[in-house]
Amino acid sequence: MATAGQRIAYFNGRFVPESQVLVPFRDRGFKYGDAVFDTTRTFGHRVFKLAEHVDRLYRSLHYLRIDPGIAPAELVAITEEVLRQNLVLLGPDEDYWVSQRISRGLDAAAREVWPQTGATVIVECLPLPLRDRASLYRDGIRVVTPAVRRTAPEAMSPRAKTHNYLNVVLGDLEAKSRDPEAWAVLLDTNGHLAEGIGSNIFLVRDGMIRTPREEFVLAGISRATVIGLATEAGVSVLEQDLDLFDAYGADEAFLTSTSLCICPVQSVNGIAPRSGAVPGPVTRQLTDAYRRFVDYDFVAQYLKHLDG
Ligand code: PMP
Repeated sequence: MATAGQRIAYFNGRFVPESQVLVPFRDRGFKYGDAVFDTTRTFGHRVFKLAEHVDRLYRSLHYLRIDPGIAPAELVAITEEVLRQNLVLLGPDEDYWVSQRISRGLDAAAREVWPQTGATVIVECLPLPLRDRASLYRDGIRVVTPAVRRTAPEAMSPRAKTHNYLNVVLGDLEAKSRDPEAWAVLLDTNGHLAEGIGSNIFLVRDGMIRTPREEFVLAGISRATVIGLATEAGVSVLEQDLDLFDAYGADEAFLTSTSLCICPVQSVNGIAPRSGAVPGPVTRQLTDAYRRFVDYDFVAQYLKHLDG
């Protein structure tokens, strides 16, 4: 069980204090980013769509031909146990990110020093950055599209969630060099909107919502949640190529991610959505549907963490 200031993580078969998760520097995850991960969150300390996240993790593993040496059901049980051991450290208004990280492990030559064979498997959790992001729910997110383009599917599929995030890291650095509080949404190599470092984008026009096609972006679990909720509410959803013309002409825009759920966009490259409201009416409707679906008011949770 976690004790003050020391969370517990799962590391290759054992539950240990986080400070004892010591990955060898010759691990291929460290050397090459040869690893995958997935992250869900808790809502009011209850884990969200864990099976779906673990399923996506195994699709990423399969794409990279990494054998995790562990079955999905076992990884689900381990994740629940990591969470159980760490809930004691959470305040009533806080929640966790909960992640599995699996690398290909060590090359044979490294085993002289480290006897480990097989994949490196870690499950860990971290409190959500509620304070840092609280103002986004009051003001909306300023999106900037950097010159760096999202990795093309021909090079490496963006549908796999790998530990190699340099492409979106570069995009985010560039966006933040223009506006320190901006979030990057990268264009793909065709000039269509793709995604951010950890988020999918949606545009609203004429009451319909549109989002980039899955071939060019990670199939976000929150993205799928919003698509499902919109469909249920009778709001049409189109998955299609979208460019800056669409972004600048949108009535509303919002980002989705595990931690954000739905968060309104204030502007794209300085241009505000045409509805003039943040959040706009459709974003608000879908946010309410999301709150009901997860049975938790994540907007109030963020806003509670506003400074002052
Ligand atoms: N795109 C990328 C590149 C991401 O890393 C994430 C975060 N997992 C997302 C989109 C959003 O996915 P989700 O809704 O599953 O968090």
